[in-house]
Amino acid sequence: MPSLHADIERVLFPEDLILEGIDRVARAIVERFDGRDFTVVSILKGSCIFSADLIRRIPVPLELAFVSASSYRDKTTSGELEISFFPTGEIEGRNLLLVDDILDTGQTMSRLKEEFLRRGANEVATCVFLDKPSRRAVELDADFKVLEVEDLFVVGYGLDFNGRYRNLPYVGVLRPELYGAAEEELGRDADEPETSEAR
Ligand code: 5GP
Ligand code: MG
Repeated sequence: MPSLHADIERVLFPEDLILEGIDRVARAIVERFDGRDFTVVSILKGSCIFSADLIRRIPVPLELAFVSASSYRDKTTSGELEISFFPTGEIEGRNLLLVDDILDTGQTMSRLKEEFLRRGANEVATCVFLDKPSRRAVELDADFKVLEVEDLFVVGYGLDFNGRYRNLPYVGVLRPELYGAAEEELGRDADEPETSEAR
């Protein structure tokens, strides 16, 4: 039987370290909202695992919503964002905590934040599982972040490579020949393995 673990060259963040970081962020979130109602908006698909662990560590009332967005990156666009699912009726006048798996160029987060404010959210705070500050293309810093990662393409804990590896309970780096094989097959940069699907 093929094992997912065998494809991982190196574990960057083991599960216990991840959960410790989430505990810290959960406490900071409770402090920030300070008894006010809020809605956690999980950006699909990448943040589903993180959001599920995060909200179970926030012991105050909250609501949960989802948004689905995909970033398209090619040589001509700097990052078009396609929103394929947007929550209706749960936004206006609400305080939101927008949650994503990783803050890379920052396009996804900044465009979505703008969109939620445009649609009448009262306040939009941002929370990311991983922050990759070296790749930032827009001016945006997340209000809450669990871990910082260097300029590496990582998988696991919700983050995928060509749709796979989201179910790994830790964050790791794939064996280089696996990125290479997919790169050849898809004719893309190994750094940008997927351009069309929800990442
Ligand atoms: P941004 O709009 O900030 O450039 O991109 C955010 C999205 O790019 C993330 O939600 C994630 O899906 C994808 N992404 C960026 N860096 C990585 C990475 O190292 N690994 C994986 N699997 N996805 C990444
Ligand atoms: Mg994503």
